[in-house]
Parts: sequence; structure tokens; C-alpha cells
Amino acid sequence: MKLLTYGCQMNVADSERMAGLLRQIGYTLTDDFDAADLILINTCCVRATAEDKVFGQIGRLKALKKQKPTLILGVAGCMAQKEGDNLIKRAPHIDFVLGTGQSSEVARVVRSLELERKHFVDVSNVSGDIPSEVFPLRGGQVSTFVPIMYGCNNFCTYCIVPYVRGRERSRKPEEIFAEVKQAVAEGFKEITLLGQNVNSYSGGMTFAELIGVVDKISGVERLRFMTSHPKDLSDELIAAMAGGRHICEHIHLPVQYGNDKILKRMNRVYTVEKYLELVKKIRAALPHVSLTTDLIVGFPGETDDDLRETLDFIREVQFDAAFTFIYSKRSGTPAATFPAQVDDDTKHRRLDALMKVQNEISLAKNRALEGTVVEVLVEGASKTDDKIFTGRTRSNKLVLFAHGEERAGDLINVKITQAQTWLLKGEVNVL
Ligand code: SF4
Repeated sequence: MKLLTYGCQMNVADSERMAGLLRQIGYTLTDDFDAADLILINTCCVRATAEDKVFGQIGRLKALKKQKPTLILGVAGCMAQKEGDNLIKRAPHIDFVLGTGQSSEVARVVRSLELERKHFVDVSNVSGDIPSEVFPLRGGQVSTFVPIMYGCNNFCTYCIVPYVRGRERSRKPEEIFAEVKQAVAEGFKEITLLGQNVNSYSGGMTFAELIGVVDKISGVERLRFMTSHPKDLSDELIAAMAGGRHICEHIHLPVQYGNDKILKRMNRVYTVEKYLELVKKIRAALPHVSLTTDLIVGFPGETDDDLRETLDFIREVQFDAAFTFIYSKRSGTPAATFPAQVDDDTKHRRLDALMKVQNEISLAKNRALEGTVVEVLVEGASKTDDKIFTGRTRSNKLVLFAHGEERAGDLINVKITQAQTWLLKGEVNVL
């Protein structure tokens, strides 16, 4: 089988779980499209560009399907949930469409299609879960994701996620602990606990309690989590991070915008002042914390003055990095019908302005690390040069260094010699 995954870490985790189910009925992974008997595309619909990529990929597979009619082609994930049988109407060479709540059915559906070929669509239960006994077929070898909850209750006005992933459902703590132990037994050193909003975890303990227990599981060398809604990040979690042993000093805290008018229109439920107070509290407890964020420009009603306030805001916060996006109109969300939609040229101009300011901040933050020694978890050879290895700091910064005796999964000390905006270069520190 060939798996293609688009979108966020949650989709990566879902793909691994579906691959785990398909492994139980005899499928193994291949990178070769021609060798695959099954191609499964796990989709994202958060932005129009993500959907365009999926449609492009589905179109490219038409010729392959014609050459090899026995090939089973399936589409799962958020776009499958949103589009349902429209996908098959648009591309009849797709065999099956499974919504986000039906992904646990993937093996049963594939089995039945092996016996009898007919179109199959099920997007009926957006709030279904993958059963706990699934053993995910994990990619990578050092770092992996463990979902702790699914769905979202927040209904930010631009976001399609609550409509395609349903309401929040938390997994039981014992299932999560068992899965972490299983991942560690497979050799993974770094665990990232995943949820659309991990701080509203409600599986019988708080998220701070949950992460405290996972921190003590033998073999977990590094522990991360994402994503945190600023309205829910608790003092208890900050204390757990400060007292934790393996919990990394990195918080991805999406702010989305830097002025109250737009935050209110986005239904983010906090103000700039509240966010700044939270940042202050986090930095007081975790002086070496790295803070990253997401920012959206071009939201309906945004003016140049709003953007100027946002630029001032990011100068004040000094994020280590920001993932910057252009607002993408998603039909079915409230913001799609808001007046004063921003034109494309203005969106791009504002994105450039935002990136310019943030890139200067990111570079300055990274330059401050030049000459210091940081702990790096080795990931392996870089994609472009096998003499160069990559790894990450506890603060989640990418580090490149000349390869010596190191192996993927080693924790080593690296002296930073050169900083760039998105990465650090260094040399292995033998002392
Ligand atoms: S918190 Fe807001 S942006 Fe994040 S998934 Fe939920 S609705 Fe979407």
C-alpha cells in the first residue's frame, strides 16, 4: 500500500493508525505507486491550497488506475468528511471515501472491495474514534505522535476543523500510557501528545496530570505536546513543565492575530492583553522556553492599522518562530460570509510585511545561541547531504552538524557556530 498524507500532525497520526489496521489484513507499506495494490490519500481541507493539492494528486492517479484496474484508491480525512460522495462524482476512479469518524473502518472496507468492486462512501459519524487496540504503523524512527483527544469545541470563525472532526473526545489515560509504552518499546525517544486543544483534555485527569505521568514512563527521553489554545493553558500545566524532567521547553501557542478587533471576529475568546500576561507567566516559570505561534493575515475586515498593531505585538512578544498564513475562505464557516473580505494582493503584501518582521526576530533569537552548547536529539542524515546530520534542540530548533559517530536517537551536545532564520548550524561538542 502507498499512503499519502496531507495536512497536520493529527493526519499523520491518523494515517499511521489506518496503516496499522491495514497491516492486520496483510498490507505492507511501499513508496512505489506502481507496486501498490492500495493507495490511500489522507486529506486536509484547512486551506484551499491543501484541497487543490489533493485534487491534483487524485487526477494524476487516473492513468495508473486505468493501467491497473485492480488498484484500490481510497480518500480519507478532513476533505473526505467535507466532500463525501462529491469526490466520487468528480473523480469516479476513486473506490472509497471515508470520513474522519470512519477511519477505523478502513480495513473492513478494503476487504469488501477486494471481493466486490463498487463505490463506497461513509461520512456519517464525524465523532467516531479509532479503537484503542490499534497498533499504529509508525513512520520515522526517533520521534512519534500519540493522539490524546480528537475534535474541537471552539468554533473559531475561520476554521473548518470542528465541522470535519466533530466535538472533543478524550482518550482514556490508560490507553494513552499503553500507547506511549508501546512506542518506546519500538525505539521512539520523543513523544508528542496530540490534540486540537490538548489543554481541554478531559479523560479523567487534567492534561497537566496526564503529561506528568507520561514524563515518568521509562524510555521517554523527550516529551512534547500540541496544540494549546491560549484560553486553556493552565498554571498547572506551566508548573508541570517547570517540574518535569523530559517535558521540553517549547510551547506552540497560536495567537492568530495581534489586535482585539480581529481576535474578537475570529472568536478566539482572549485579548492581546490576556495573551501577553500568559506569555509573561510562562517566561517567568520557564526562562529558557521557546515560544512559537501561528498568525493569519487577510482576515475579513482587517485594515493596515490592524496589521501595524500586529507587527507591534509580535515585536513585543518576540516569538522564536511563527507560521504565517493567508486567510483562506472555507465555505461553511462563519467568516466565509463576513463582509469586507480582503483582496489577494493586499493579503500577500501584508503577509510579506509580517514575515519580514518575524524573520528578523527569529534570526536575532537564533543568533543569541551562537557559541552556546545545546542538547540535540539526532534524527539522521539531512535530505540533501548524507555527511550532514540533523537533530532538534529541546526548544524544537533544527540543528545541522557534520556527521561523526552519531546515530539516530542519540542525545548529543552540539556547539552552535552559525545561526540562520529557520535553523542552526553547529559542531559536535566532544567535551
Ligand atoms: S481551536 Fe480554533 S483554530 Fe484550532 S481547531 Fe479548534 S476551531 Fe480550529
